[in-house]
Amino acid sequence: MRIARYTTGEDPAYGVIDGEPGDEVVRGLRGDPLYIGVVPDDTTVALEEVRLLAPVIPRSKVIGIGRNYADHAAELANVVPAEPMMFLIPNTAVVGPGDPVVMPRQSRQVDYEGELAVVIGKIAKDVRVQDALDCVWGYTVANDVTARDLQKSDGQWARAKGFDSFCPLGPWVETELDPSDLRLVTRLDGKVVQDGRTADMVHDVAALIAYASAAFTLLPGDVILTGTPAGVGPVSAGQRVSIEIEGIGALDNPFVRR
Ligand code: MG
Repeated sequence: MRIARYTTGEDPAYGVIDGEPGDEVVRGLRGDPLYIGVVPDDTTVALEEVRLLAPVIPRSKVIGIGRNYADHAAELANVVPAEPMMFLIPNTAVVGPGDPVVMPRQSRQVDYEGELAVVIGKIAKDVRVQDALDCVWGYTVANDVTARDLQKSDGQWARAKGFDSFCPLGPWVETELDPSDLRLVTRLDGKVVQDGRTADMVHDVAALIAYASAAFTLLPGDVILTGTPAGVGPVSAGQRVSIEIEGIGALDNPFVRR
């Protein structure tokens, strides 16, 4: 099931995307399905008549994972860490499909990073790897936007990854998906710049959830970004980045200079 968050000009609402490609509709839901389940409200609107919003607003945290694809670690001359390398992104960085990514004046190099995002569905602490996927509500697409120059000069990654608008999520959450081998393609103004598969993660989705939950209590709506394959690179103001993951859809955002 594809669950979107959207607006028609009124308050944000949730809905299930239904119908054939190019002719989809949004079937409205009561409240937030992450907390009360999928309860239809009997409204239907054409997908093209709504504006999609970030499908989830993380209540407490977005957990990023660094260097989780060997070919990406190598392209930046980094070694693959033996254990997942975690960092935190503030939820104020989250924006939705089509929202502009604002490139801050402090940075001269802002990079895209196409990633599979895991949305947590239940409270989880010290989860075993074999139980970890039971904690997942669904999957969406993320752009782990990074001020590459500040990432290097700061040492800590909080600022480089945490600017407002640096965590686009969308276009919706797919709740029925096997994340183990999905194609991920990133396009910069239509040109393919990343073409990877989630099967090439060093630590897979279940391992990441278990590892993160051993440190932090995971809450419903928390998001884990699972790392990016090779092909990262800078974006110029005025360009668009589209990230497509097999079985989910495409997340497209324009980049603008403040
Ligand atoms: Mg990343």
